[in-house]
Amino acid sequence: MTQFVSTRDPTHSVGFGSALLQGLAPDGGLYVPRDWPRAALQTLFATGAELSLPDLAAALIQPFAGDDPLADEIGAICAEAFNFPAPLMPLLPDAKLSVLELFHGPTAAFKDFGARFLAASLARLRRAQAAVAPLKILVATSGDTGGAVAAAFHHRPGMEVVVLFPKGLVSPAQEQQLTCWDQNVLSCEVRGTFDDCQRLVKEAFLDPTLRSRFQLSSANSINLGRLLPQAVYYVASSLQVQAASGHPASYIIPSGNLGNATACLWARALGAPIDRIVLAHNANRTVPDYLEEGELRPRPSIATLASAMDVGNPSNLERLSALFPDSAALRSAISAVSVDDTAIRERIRADYLRTDYLRAHNIWCPHTSVAAEALARLPEAERAAHRWVLVATAHPAKFGEIVEPLIGRSVPMPDNLAQLFQRATHKRPLEPTLASLIEAM
Ligand SMILES: *Cc1c(COP(=O)(O)O)cnc(C)c1O
Repeated sequence: MTQFVSTRDPTHSVGFGSALLQGLAPDGGLYVPRDWPRAALQTLFATGAELSLPDLAAALIQPFAGDDPLADEIGAICAEAFNFPAPLMPLLPDAKLSVLELFHGPTAAFKDFGARFLAASLARLRRAQAAVAPLKILVATSGDTGGAVAAAFHHRPGMEVVVLFPKGLVSPAQEQQLTCWDQNVLSCEVRGTFDDCQRLVKEAFLDPTLRSRFQLSSANSINLGRLLPQAVYYVASSLQVQAASGHPASYIIPSGNLGNATACLWARALGAPIDRIVLAHNANRTVPDYLEEGELRPRPSIATLASAMDVGNPSNLERLSALFPDSAALRSAISAVSVDDTAIRERIRADYLRTDYLRAHNIWCPHTSVAAEALARLPEAERAAHRWVLVATAHPAKFGEIVEPLIGRSVPMPDNLAQLFQRATHKRPLEPTLASLIEAM
C-alpha cells in the first residue's frame, strides 16, 4: 500500500487523506509517494487508452489510497473532479505534434483539475470527521490559483475559502475570477504585494487564536491533492499518442512552481509511455540555470507576460530532487529552456497564422507561447525524432489584453469564462496586517 513520505524525512509517512488535510509535512517537507505502484497499474497502461478521463483517473489514483478512509470514495471524487475534457488536438499527422488543451474547466486553466480534486476530497474527509472546527482554506494568489480554488470550493458546506490578492496587481480578467463568488468564499483585496499576501497566510497558520477557532488548510500547489490528479492527463494523453503512433509521448510544459512538471515525471515513474520532458520557463531562469550550472540559486521573481510562471524559487523543486537527488541525474531526466517576453510576443504573432487550428483557437496564451517557443528552439533532428505534445495551460481569452494586439483581433470568451463574467463581484479591502485578516475572518 502506498504511503506518502516527507521529502525531508523518509521515515515520516502518512496516508492519502492525512497528506491532503495537512498540505505541508510537519517538518516543512513536501509529501511524495514512498513507492510507485507500477505492478498494480500494468493493466491500466495496457488498456487505458479507451477509458474515459474520470475512469482512468480513478484507476490511476486508487492504488495510492490503499486502505485510507478515502479509498472507497476515489471513484466518486474523480467523477466529480474530472467532469470536463482534456482533449489532445493533432497539429501534425501521425501524432508528431499535438496540443494538450487543459483549459476547459470552470476558470479556463489547468489548475481547475487539481483544485476540483482537492475540494471533492476534502469535502468527504470533512464528512468523516464530523464536529470539528470549521475548515478555512487560505490562498494567497497572484492570479490563476485563487480563482480555481474559489470555483472548486464555492457552495461546499463546512468549508470556507479566504482568497488574498494584491490590490491593482492582477489583470482585470483575473480580478473578475477572484471576486465573482459569494457565500463561503471571501475575496480580500490586500493593500500590498503578493509577498504580503503570502506572509499573511503564513502568519495566520502560526496564530494561536485562529488555530483554536478554525481548522486551517492551504490549497496551493504543494498540496498532494492538487498534484497527483495532474498526472492523470499525462497518462491519458501519452496512451493516446502511443495508440495512434506506436511511440511514447514527449512533453513541453510551461513551468513556474513545477507542479505540472512533477506530475508528468510521476506519470513517467508510474510506467506511462513518456519519453522526453522539456520544461519551458519564462525569464525566471532558476531552473534552466540549475540544470546548466549544477548549482541551485533561488532568486526574487521577475514580472513577465506569462505571470503565472513568475517564480524565482520553485517549491516543487524539492519533489524533483527527491526523485533525482543530484543535478546530473535530474539533467538526464528533463531539460529546461528560458524564453523572454519579446520571444513570447513574437511566437504568439507568428504561430497564429500558421495553421487553421491555431487561427481558430486564437492561440497562444502567453504561458503556452513559452512552450511553443521552446519547441521551435529544439534542434531539427530532436524535433523530428519524438512525438511532441505542447501543454496548453490556459485559454488565450484570459489574457486578451496581451494576445489581442498581437493577433489583431478580439478573442471570444469560451462559455466557461463567459459564465464567470456574468456574475456580480464582491471584495473586501484589507490592510496587510494579521489583525485585519483576523477581523475579516
Ligand atoms: C500556474 C500556471 C503555470 C505554472 O504551472 P506550475 O505547475 O506552477 O509549474 C503555467 N501556466 C498557467 C496558465 C498557470 O496558471
